Amino acid sequence: MPRIHLLDDRLISQIAAGEVVERPASVVKELVENSIDAGAGSVRVELEVGGKRRIIVTDDGSGMDADDALLAFDRHATSKIASFEDLEQVGTLGFRGEALATIAAVARVELKTAATAGDGHLVRVEGGRVRRSEPVAHPRGTRIEVASLFYNVPARRKFLKRPQTELRRALEVVQGYALAHPELRFQVLHEGRTLLETTPSPDDGEGLRERIRQVFGGALSARLTEIPLEFVSEEDAISGFVGNRDTSRGRRTFLYVNRRLVRDRILLARFYRSVRDEWKGEEYPSLFLFLDLPASEIDVNVHPQKSEVRFRDLAFIDRVEEALRTTLALIRGEEPAPLSSPSREPVAAVWEGLGGEVADSARAFEAPGDPGVDAGAVPAAAAPVDGDRTAGTIAQAAFAPPEPMQVPLSGRSGKVRSFRLLGQYKGSLILLEGPDGLYLIDQHVAHERLLYERMRRALEGERASAQSLIEPLLLELSAAEAMRLREMTPLLEECGFSLSPMSGNTVALTAIPTILSIDQAEGMVQTLAASEGEIESDVAESRRKLLDALAASMACRAAVKIHHPMSVVEMQRLISELFQAEQPYACPHGRPVVLQMGDVELERRFGRR
Ligand code: ADP
Ligand code: MG
Repeated sequence: MPRIHLLDDRLISQIAAGEVVERPASVVKELVENSIDAGAGSVRVELEVGGKRRIIVTDDGSGMDADDALLAFDRHATSKIASFEDLEQVGTLGFRGEALATIAAVARVELKTAATAGDGHLVRVEGGRVRRSEPVAHPRGTRIEVASLFYNVPARRKFLKRPQTELRRALEVVQGYALAHPELRFQVLHEGRTLLETTPSPDDGEGLRERIRQVFGGALSARLTEIPLEFVSEEDAISGFVGNRDTSRGRRTFLYVNRRLVRDRILLARFYRSVRDEWKGEEYPSLFLFLDLPASEIDVNVHPQKSEVRFRDLAFIDRVEEALRTTLALIRGEEPAPLSSPSREPVAAVWEGLGGEVADSARAFEAPGDPGVDAGAVPAAAAPVDGDRTAGTIAQAAFAPPEPMQVPLSGRSGKVRSFRLLGQYKGSLILLEGPDGLYLIDQHVAHERLLYERMRRALEGERASAQSLIEPLLLELSAAEAMRLREMTPLLEECGFSLSPMSGNTVALTAIPTILSIDQAEGMVQTLAASEGEIESDVAESRRKLLDALAASMACRAAVKIHHPMSVVEMQRLISELFQAEQPYACPHGRPVVLQMGDVELERRFGRR
């Protein structure tokens, strides 16, 4: 057994490098953050071979004097915090003082910087060792060149992807900061070709809209509604833009906390929920959300890449949801939906006018039908009697329920069980009386499941036959999105799409799979361009995933929405087909289709057991 020994400093920093520096995009991220922290007005990023050979970031920020230029490469050397108290208040993007040391441990780095124009300093570091340090003429600001990333860590170098993939990721990083800082000029060049160039705009709502236009094009920016200013206060601000329904194709989602791009699952879940409640659908629009609050109200020190945050005051998240709901309602052109607004009427109101004792309401439950069931959903004879709704008449008001249907519970088991359709609840849920309890079926999810299975089968058999478009469809994309589509072209062609790049970041769709309508094909390609996942290199596997996503999204769009009355015949048809489905219990996204409340559970809840 080898003896335990201490690792030398160089090895330690190479191991640690993996935490912050994974690929050219992570270097770009750290360097751009440093430029923004240094108060730059202009940040230029130049790349060669996707950043694998060279990354140069130049800014016109504060610069450093000779001492600082050397010190900047020491581990835990930072000008941004000095004490534990500062850590609670960090207002800068960086603060750990690790980035430059880490990058310099795994690359050849040259720093040129000047705090006063002309009076500059050059430092060259290779594999963590300072090779050169001397005065140099340089304008005010900083230029850092990172060459041969991972030249001394072959294992990491092997994990880098093709240059275009690395380049696209680096571009995505800069686009993210460009959106957070409309007041700054950003430029990205790859081997001399300009991929992104933004002109400074005011740091306000209109400036942000203009910046979104510069990154994604005019079609998107024209479809955005600003979050009302009432959510901006002295202490904190919730601002940004929400898109209309048309922006759900190729949806762009950007969440910023104190101008730091984050992926906060809690915030996203609130957004999705708000859309479902306010729009009664599952088409999620684009979102550019900016949360600005005192540094002491958040904790950014929870993630090595600083991409997660924790909020100290959870009520703030509620206010974010309120801001989103208000904006979604504005877009829909109405007040926020009453059913889902946070302050809901107490449930007790349901019992109003029933009169009598508790025993009476218990008896009411024994009535064979629910007088609250939507009259339109059941046969005429089943309509509840209006007028006097005392406990005595409840039982009489009971409707004559349709005959139980003979439906197999699952296509697989072949077992037939009787269900009786009780009706529809709030135009959203189908209620069934089963042999062993009450069943609630989410009509949207149930329909979605069925359509998904049908489409999946149809697509499987499809030989990717293509239909060329007489008039090509032009897609307006960001630079990074256009690159992503270029990477996916072989896969898309396999599935029957044809694409050709046009000037700027516009891509022309010239052929689509015959199975799709033009709209569906456009939506699909837009969504793929804006998606975040890895692009698979295995074509067969990605084709399967693509078809799967396609079937799921088509099913979701086409499925009957909630708050939609259905006739008895429609409901019966849906249910019999559902119970023959391959997987009747969950939608393609994994949400449940059927909830069951067993007799035993019901009796227990009513204190009868
Ligand atoms: P951190 O950003 O966490 O402080 P870094 O390793 O990224 O750590 O940078 C170390 C220090 O180098 C910074 O605190 C800052 O003082 C200085 N520095 C780095 N980049 C720049 C820049 N572009 N302009 C001015 N100063 C910089
Ligand atoms: Mg930094």
